[in-house]
Amino acid sequence: MEHYDFLVLGAGSGGIASGNRAAALGARVAVIEMARLGGTCVNLGCVPKKIMWNAAQFEERLTEARAGHLHAGEGACDFGALVTARERYIAGLNARYREKFASTGVTLIEGMGVFVDEHTLAVGTRRFSGEHVLIATGARPVIPDLPGAALGITSDGFFALKSQPRRAAIVGGGYIAVELAGVLRALGSEVTLLARRGRLLASFDDMLGDELCAAMHAQGIQVMLDTRITEAEQAGGDITLVLETGRLGGFDTVIFAIGRSPNVEDLNISATGARLGPQGHVVVDALQNTNVAGLYAVGDVTGAPALTPVAIAAGRALADRLFGSAPARRLDTRFVPTVIFTHPPIGTVGLSEAGARHCHGDGIKVYHTRFTPLVHALSPHPVKTAMKLVTAGPEETVVGCHIIGEGADEMLQGFTVAIRMGATKRDFDETIAIHPTSAEELVTLT
Ligand code: NDP
Repeated sequence: MEHYDFLVLGAGSGGIASGNRAAALGARVAVIEMARLGGTCVNLGCVPKKIMWNAAQFEERLTEARAGHLHAGEGACDFGALVTARERYIAGLNARYREKFASTGVTLIEGMGVFVDEHTLAVGTRRFSGEHVLIATGARPVIPDLPGAALGITSDGFFALKSQPRRAAIVGGGYIAVELAGVLRALGSEVTLLARRGRLLASFDDMLGDELCAAMHAQGIQVMLDTRITEAEQAGGDITLVLETGRLGGFDTVIFAIGRSPNVEDLNISATGARLGPQGHVVVDALQNTNVAGLYAVGDVTGAPALTPVAIAAGRALADRLFGSAPARRLDTRFVPTVIFTHPPIGTVGLSEAGARHCHGDGIKVYHTRFTPLVHALSPHPVKTAMKLVTAGPEETVVGCHIIGEGADEMLQGFTVAIRMGATKRDFDETIAIHPTSAEELVTLT
């Protein structure tokens, strides 16, 4: 049996960040991982997605420029070459994580970790114990429980595609569904998006889903709201979806993007006594403690927002707390900004208008604008930008900021700093604008 100060199960964003921080603070650390280093974000999520999104942005820009002023021939996306280059880049990241472990002195144990008890994990025939043990096993895509579901793929399958879908159906109305729909459409696929609710991105401010839906229609994506699927069938070489309201066929690719489920089943977690929530997440308190002393969890395996920077922040805070001089350090989830890489992108932080009304009643004031950004000024089909600031109280403290439009992804980070610091509408108003940009609209709202 090998013993460590800190034994981390899972080398995704949270586990790696926590393990490296603990090692930097002098702890003896081992990380157990059965797949490629970097977890979902690096291998099957944020990073490959952003590469695909960037490629899609290039395509869109070229199409738009050709329509306005650029004399260039039609260029079809070489999907296979894009995927090869993307995977080469990711292999480089995997290698960098391995090098970092070596340089920080973290021991990497390759294989599947299974709990023997709350302080002991088995990897094959070997046993490892930890004074402190962290569960950071992440989550995986949900496959719907309906006949023919095996005909479809999930986001994992999307990243395994070597050729571009001709006609894709994407099921879901959340982050992954809308992101993949936009990428595939911009790269040239026919895309149908089927969401069971009456609005896309239903958990965000209404403006975002409504504007996105309009943008998607304009891009030629067929968006079907209030649509439920009961079955998928093979029909010749294609897939047909059976809906509550009829049938829809001719798809060569069906992607289910209906949420993610925590990776807990194969860990023999019952050997630890850790409590799981109704969706199977490991239940933790604000300090990442489970109900079992010395056993912690961070990232998507907990019920925290399933976002890489949240997992990293939680993992580092835990390491600082256990091995550093910051015994009270914890994840601060008051204002978690998030970007949805749609076309155009969405940036959102804080309370939606409805959420603010729920918390503050009539004591809110909302500022809104919708305009054609200069980047689309010459476009025959300009894509609008929409912004909303939600303020609360007599000081008009900004409690929410929601943007859909070019540059929203890069705009949001700085505004989040201001909002976290308690900026008021007046602070926004008194900030000199940067002209001509889209961001200036946020400090000139009336
Ligand atoms: P989301 O929770 O964002 O969306 C799931 C969607 O699927 C919702 O529209 C939901 O509808 C719908 N749904 C759920 N069950 C079914 C069903 N049985 N049939 C049809 N539709 C269903 O999950 P995602 O999988 O898109 O993403 C998972 C998480 O990963 C996100 O929540 C986010 O935290 C993270 N992520 C972050 C990204 C980023 O930062 N840019 C990118 C991608 C993912 P309903 O609302 O009715 O439940």
